Amino acid sequence: MKTKQCDRCSKKASISLEYGPHHYCEAHFTKFFDNRVKKTIRKYKLFKPGEKLLVAVSGGKDSLVVLHLIHKYYSRSNEIEVLIIDEGVKGYRNKAITTAKKHCKEKGIKHKVISFEDEFGITNDDIMPLLKQNPKLGGTCAFCGTMRRHIMNKYAKKIKADKLITGHNLDDEVQSFVMNVFNNDFSRLIRTGARAGIIEHVGFVKRIKPLYETPEKEIIAYCAFNEIEHYSQECCPYSWSAKRNEFREMLNNFENRFPGTLFSTLRFNEQLKDNLKVSKEKKKEFSEKLKACSKCGEPTEKKFCNTCELIAKLQDEKKKTKKSKTKSANKKYNKKLTCATTKYNK
Ligand code: AMP
Ligand code: ZN
Ligand code: ZN
Repeated sequence: MKTKQCDRCSKKASISLEYGPHHYCEAHFTKFFDNRVKKTIRKYKLFKPGEKLLVAVSGGKDSLVVLHLIHKYYSRSNEIEVLIIDEGVKGYRNKAITTAKKHCKEKGIKHKVISFEDEFGITNDDIMPLLKQNPKLGGTCAFCGTMRRHIMNKYAKKIKADKLITGHNLDDEVQSFVMNVFNNDFSRLIRTGARAGIIEHVGFVKRIKPLYETPEKEIIAYCAFNEIEHYSQECCPYSWSAKRNEFREMLNNFENRFPGTLFSTLRFNEQLKDNLKVSKEKKKEFSEKLKACSKCGEPTEKKFCNTCELIAKLQDEKKKTKKSKTKSANKKYNKKLTCATTKYNK
């Protein structure tokens, strides 16, 4: 096959983006990639100069790329801080946290590590056997995600951040959209977007996604071309049960066979939401329903917030469990698993 030339210079192309199609050398791909992220930030008015930004960094490729770009282009106009959450998964999180911290130190960015253990007195390694024992409690990723968002929101308020940045990318967003369709989950559909959530409320710090229009595959290439060291050896050993992996695989197959599928699904989702625009009155109604959780003070419609309810359920379950039983269940979860991202990487 004839090697393609870069669309912008005479060099040999290092990457071909079939949906364009575009062919770029490493330097021009980096420029194209950076410009698209800056455009996403402008187009969706993700943040303004002067706002304090808290970046949630896991140590994986997405959040490290977002940190790299926010630091590269906005460290003069915005105050930046990093939050790293330690969910307590032995052998998995420690290495990723070390990588995340290393990036912050190199860039001179203030960073804070908060663990599930400190915040809730329970780790993911403790939680998973309990969920296995009583599947009615819910799925593994649902627990972990709710607890993580709780810490993010609470810490963002503590440091008076104006926006909370996550590394969610185009693939994540499209997977969520298709999953919501398959699950007939309409209320979740309107909560997605580059600016997550519909409620503007003092109790919630706005979560924003600068990589909303950036395909995952290109983030992997960007890390390689720009030598962004990240943690990618294994995915969370507990995420194997996530239904999301099935959707990821299905959408990857479609994108490979019909390039542009991810972008067109994203645009369809946006048009749908534009036509559904939640009225100001409705938003006000949502906000007015919120009150402070009786246990932790975070906003909720009920007496206790979702996180406090989950923790209470886990504590009840823990009481029912004999110590020896927990130990044997734990062993089963310690096997190594290959995640969809790794498969996709091949
Ligand atoms: P995930 O749900 O694992 O795809 O993660 C989505 C985004 O949430 C990441 O890109 C990060 O911005 C953030 N995030 C996930 N896990 C952590 C963590 N342990 N600490 C800080 N941020 C995280
Ligand atoms: Zn070039
Ligand atoms: Zn609570």
